[in-house]
Amino acid sequence: MTGSYSFTKLSTYEDCPRRYRYEFIDKVGSKAPDNIHAVVGRLVHGAIASFHRSFPKPTPSEGPEILRIYDGLLSEVDHSSVQLPTDRSVQYYFKRGRALVHGYVTRWPDLFGETVLAVEQPLRIHLETSNGIVEIDGVADKISTTDHDDVIVTDFKTTPSPPPHSSIEDFHQAAIYWMGLREAGETRRGRLRYHYLDSQVCAIHEADLRTSDSARRWIEQTVEKIQSDTDEREWEARANFRCRMCRFGPICPEGGTWLRNSTARDRLF
Ligand code: SF4
Repeated sequence: MTGSYSFTKLSTYEDCPRRYRYEFIDKVGSKAPDNIHAVVGRLVHGAIASFHRSFPKPTPSEGPEILRIYDGLLSEVDHSSVQLPTDRSVQYYFKRGRALVHGYVTRWPDLFGETVLAVEQPLRIHLETSNGIVEIDGVADKISTTDHDDVIVTDFKTTPSPPPHSSIEDFHQAAIYWMGLREAGETRRGRLRYHYLDSQVCAIHEADLRTSDSARRWIEQTVEKIQSDTDEREWEARANFRCRMCRFGPICPEGGTWLRNSTARDRLF
């Protein structure tokens, strides 16, 4: 087992192997129009990153700048062929994105107690397996520090609310980025944060040996499954609520069926 992967590739496979095939094997991605959730997700992430590049230690009076940044990014978006999963207009989703970034600077008190060290930071880990080295690339949304001199790796979520604590422990994204920071020489104490922008609620846990081991196991198992799927050409379609965010809905029979049978509430952002 060797090769180069990204966190996005591994999590795409975990969510739905069929989607992985469309995106990375058949490469139909470049021809499929973007889903509105992906467009708004990029806008929100881009506005927060740009805000922190200008204000690494923002003050409350600088907070509203994020709206100007969001509006500027939005003015450059071509949404003529974007896919909408509900009857709501494209403006509804853009307004919702604006509310998320506004909430980030008005409803999340910890914003003003941290210094941002980096945003959209590329990181790479090398994992030694029994069959060779696997490389994993990823991009950490935000890396910050506090007066206690610990380092927090944040992953922003635009989905509605955090899952139960037990499920958060199965998330490996921030732990993988933390391992990348370690490889790059970081020695301070680390914390992993999943920040749900809709509710401004954060799930935080310590970055320790346990989280790293668990992330390692997940990487090994997922790479193994991808490599065996490549041989067998199975690519199971896992139709579920994520189909509403998948741009392959129009060409995927299983996803199309799920979307037709789901309620409007299932398909809400
Ligand atoms: S529409 Fe759903 S089942 Fe089909 S590829 Fe996308 S996520 Fe998978």
